This record gives sequence, C-alpha cells and structure tokens, in this order.
Amino acid sequence: MSAAPNPLLVVGSVAIDSIRTPFGERERSLGGAALHFSVSASFFTEVGVVAVIGDDFTAEDRRVFDERRIDTENLRHVPGGRTFRWAGEYGYDLNTARTLDTQLNVFADFDPHLSERARQSPFLFLANIQPGLQRRVREQVNARFVAMDTMNFWIEGAREELLQTLSVVDALLINDAEARELAGEANMIRAARKILTMGPSLVVVKRGEYGAACFTRESYFATPAFPLENVFDPTGAGDSFAGGFMGCLAQAGSIDDHTVRRAVIYGSVMASYNVEEFSCDRLRRLLPEEIGSRFRQFKEFTHFEI
Ligand code: AMP
Repeated sequence: MSAAPNPLLVVGSVAIDSIRTPFGERERSLGGAALHFSVSASFFTEVGVVAVIGDDFTAEDRRVFDERRIDTENLRHVPGGRTFRWAGEYGYDLNTARTLDTQLNVFADFDPHLSERARQSPFLFLANIQPGLQRRVREQVNARFVAMDTMNFWIEGAREELLQTLSVVDALLINDAEARELAGEANMIRAARKILTMGPSLVVVKRGEYGAACFTRESYFATPAFPLENVFDPTGAGDSFAGGFMGCLAQAGSIDDHTVRRAVIYGSVMASYNVEEFSCDRLRRLLPEEIGSRFRQFKEFTHFEI
C-alpha cells in the first residue's frame, strides 16, 4: 500500500448480518454500511476503511477487503470482542427493512485514532453508525468534501448528537422515510429543504426501487432506479449507492454539478448490482465493463428530446 493519502475514506459498521427476505435467508451474511460502501467504491478509487471487528470476523471474511485492495490500516481487531450484529427482514415491499436485532458489540467503545495518511483523505464518507463516532472521525480528517448517512435507529435514539454531526458535513445521503422522519415533514421537497438548513448543502434522497433525487438550494436532479426484475436482497443498497456516488466524486476529484449528476447514476448502477444477491456476493464478481454497460443504459432510458 502506498504512503499517499487514501483518496476516499469511510467510517461505519462492519457487520455480520442475519437476513430474511421473501426469497430466502442467510444466517451469517457479511454486511455493515462501511463494508458495502468500500466494496462498491473500490471500483472507482482506492478506499480506506475505519471500523472495528471482533474474533468472529475470520481471515476468510477479511478477503472481502483484501481481494478489492481496500486499505484496512484503520480496521481494528479487538481480541475477545464480537463483531457488530444486525438481524433484519423484508416483506414483499423490499424498500423497507424491519430490524429484528441490533448489537453494537465492539462498536460500543470504539474510539479510533486515525493514521496520519487517513487524516489527509480529501473525500470522507461517514457511513451509518453512532453519530458521535461519525463526528469524532470527521474532526480528525482534513477533508475537502464530507458526506454522511444515518438511519431511524439513530434519528430516534441519538437525535441531538446526529444534529451536531449533520452541522459539520457537506452532504447527506439518506433514504426517503428517514429524510421525512429527520425533518418532521411528510412532503419530500419540504423535508429536503429543511435538511438543507441543518448543515449540508447537498441532500441525496434514496428512494429504493423508485430511484434517487438530489437537492441543493439552487438545483434539483432526479433519476429512476435501474429497471430490475430480480431483486433478491436489498441490504446494502443504500451503502453501495453511496460507494458509487463518493467513488465517482473522489475519482474525478471534483464536486461540480455535472460530476454530482454522474455520481448519482454510478450510485444507482452499483446499488442495482448489489441487490441481485445476498451480501456483496454480486459485487465481488462484478466486472468494470458491467458498470459501464448499465451506466449507458441509464442514459438511454432517461433521455428525451425537447
Ligand atoms: P442499507 O441496506 O444500505 O441501509 O444498510 C444495511 C447495512 O446496515 C447492514 O449490512 C447492517 O449491518 C447495517 N446496519 C443496520 N443497522 C445499523 C445501525 N444501527 N448502525 C450501523 N449500521 C447498521
């Protein structure tokens, strides 16, 4: 691994999930927001991951990072500890996960001190995890552009901390139900406008099978999702979207409006592959030309003449 800064850094959960969908179940599914994010982003740029694992995260599990050359210098192993666990299930509405169990385990007292290299990362993503931990990482990194995600678990259980973290980021990527809950607004346009007064200057709302919308104070951009017939496991869709989005920005080294729009499409492409199989199994086999192919199809099915 080179001594140059990671172009993109992520902090968030690395997890062992237990997933049930109408099409099948998996007892031990590699997951976590930072894991899904980094696998997806690694198709665009070199990414470093800040997280913690326990003894139950095996050498075989670590291959998910090593085979994609994800930098694990700031992935800490706590001897005797247990990895973050999440159990969830989906009904036929695959847009909504029902949480059955959340165990923070080694994340409960994780207080990372980042390597010098990681502190110089120009692009930082605060993936879903305790908002206080997101903020402590944000404070250590001298980043040009910082984006974050969160979920109902933290909106309901750690709102004040979450609002503090939100006040020190440039962008929020969030799913639609959580955007409404965070803003206390049923209407999505009003919810996004309200979030734009809380700190971020860019809000990207992920709408599951209906696509994504991107708001700034001056502009609006929206895209449908890739028209998939076989959605198998939606877990990690939001994180793989964020990985494609941030990976594209970090690779371009730019956050102008044109690049942000391309990033929304790359995010949508990565999410569309991620949901085809359990965990990140599909992304582990994905070829770069497959990304290009769906990217071009997006252009075709959203193009029209005036
Ligand atoms: P997504 O489907 O993209 O929203 O994210 C799914 C991933 O988030 C799963 O792999 C879980 O391990 C992880 N996750 C679930 N609940 C939490 C939580 N409270 N904090 C951090 N990560 C979580």
